[in-house]
Amino acid sequence: MPAGSLNWLPVLPEMPPSPRAECLVVGYGLAGACLTEALLNEGWKVTVIDDNKAFSTRVAAGIVNPLVFRYLTMSWKAEELLPFARNYYQSLGEKLSVNLLHEALVLRVLAGNEAALWDEKRKLPQLSPWMDPADCPNGYLEGIDAPQGFAAVTNSFWVDTGLFLSSMYARHKPECNWLAGEFDAKNLKSESGKLVYQGIKSDRVIFCEGHRAVSNPYFSYVPFRPVKGELLTLHIPGLGEDFIYNKDVFILPIGNQLFKLGSTYVWDDLSPLPTEHARNQLLSKLEVFMKLPYKVVDHVTGVRPAIADRRPVLGLHPGDSRMAIFNGLGAKGVMLAPFFASQLATFLSGKGIISPEVDVVRFAKQSLTPQIS
Ligand SMILES: Cc1cc2nc3c(=O)[nH]c(=O)nc-3n(C[C@H](O)[C@H](O)[C@H](O)COP(=O)(O)OP(=O)(O)OC[C@H]3O[C@@H](n4cnc5c(N)ncnc54)[C@H](O)[C@@H]3O)c2cc1C
Repeated sequence: MPAGSLNWLPVLPEMPPSPRAECLVVGYGLAGACLTEALLNEGWKVTVIDDNKAFSTRVAAGIVNPLVFRYLTMSWKAEELLPFARNYYQSLGEKLSVNLLHEALVLRVLAGNEAALWDEKRKLPQLSPWMDPADCPNGYLEGIDAPQGFAAVTNSFWVDTGLFLSSMYARHKPECNWLAGEFDAKNLKSESGKLVYQGIKSDRVIFCEGHRAVSNPYFSYVPFRPVKGELLTLHIPGLGEDFIYNKDVFILPIGNQLFKLGSTYVWDDLSPLPTEHARNQLLSKLEVFMKLPYKVVDHVTGVRPAIADRRPVLGLHPGDSRMAIFNGLGAKGVMLAPFFASQLATFLSGKGIISPEVDVVRFAKQSLTPQIS
C-alpha cells in the first residue's frame, strides 16, 4: 500500500504474550536471524519473508572491537553489549557445531602522538580493562612497518557472519514458515485485527530490511543514512595470522594466508558495484604499513544500515502497534544484534521494555498512524 493512501488509527494496546502469537519477519540478515531466534525462544510462531540479498551481513568482516580509535573512547554500551554478544555467538556455535566466533586481539599500529594518548587513556578505569597493559606484542612483526610500535585491544573477536547466516537458516528452516521473494506493502491487509500477507495472518509484522528500509512506507520518518562499504580479500604469504591489524584500514586473518582488507565508507553511491577507486584507496592505505607482496583475490560491496544518530532503531510503529522495526545496526551489527533482538522479542512478549535511546518513537514527531485496509 502506498504511504500516501494510509489513513490514521489510534495506537492499539500491547499484544498480550501468547505462546501462539504469530509474527511475520521481513528480511533475514543479521537482524532478522537474531530476531527470529529470540522470538522462537519466546514461543512465537514465526514466518520469514526474504529475497536473499543480505549483502551487508554476508560481506561483513564481523569484527567486534570495544574501542573507537578516532577518539580512543569506548564504543557505545560495549561494556554490556560485547560480553552479551560473545556469549551469544559462542553458545550458538556450540549448539550448531560450527566455529562462529574467533578470538583475535586487535593490534593498532601506532602513529603520530597515539602512543602518548594510549598511555593516558590506559589510566582511566573504564578503559583500562580493554587495553592491553603490555601493548602486546610491543616489537617487530614480520611484514608490518610499525616504528612507533603497537597497542593492543583486549576482548576483541570476529564472527564469521556468512557462516552465521547459513547456520541460522538451517536451524530455523524447520521451525518457521518461509516465503521467498520481496515483501510488497501493497499486499498487506488487515482482517479481524490481524495483518494478512499472502494468506498468512500475523499479530505482528517486523521489518528487518537493512538499508532497504529507506523504501518502507510505514517507517519513512526514520532518518536512515545508509553507508556503502567495500572490502577486498588478499592472499598474503608470510603475514602472521594471530592478530587483526588496524591503521586507517583493518587486515583480518581468515585462514590459509587469506586476509580481509577493509573497509570504505561512502554515502553518495549505494550501487552494488565494486569500484576501482575503493580498491586503490584500500590498497594505498595498506601499503603504508604492510610490506609483504600480496594478491587481490576478491572484492565485495555491501551497504550498512545506519541511522542519523548512530543508534539502532527498534520498536512499535507509533500509529499501529501491529507493525514493528529492527534496524540501524550500522557498522557494529555483530555486537548490537543479539542484545537488541532479545530486547525487542522480550518487549513484544510483554516482559520488558525498549530502551528509550533505541526506541523508534524517538523519531515520531507527530502521531504517524497508518491504517492497513
Ligand atoms: C563492507 C562492510 C563491512 C562490515 N564490517 C562489519 C564488522 O566488521 N563488524 C560489524 O559488526 N559489522 C560490520 N558491518 C555491518 C553489518 O554488516 C551490518 O550491521 C549488519 O549485517 C546489518 O544486518 P541487517 O540484517 O540489518 O541487514 P542485511 O544484512 O542487509 O539484511 C537485510 C535482509 O532483508 C532482506 N530484505 C530487505 N528488504 C526486503 C523486502 N522488502 N522483502 C524481502 N526481503 C527484504 C534482504 O534481502 C536481506 O536479506 C559491515 C558492513 C559492510 C558493508
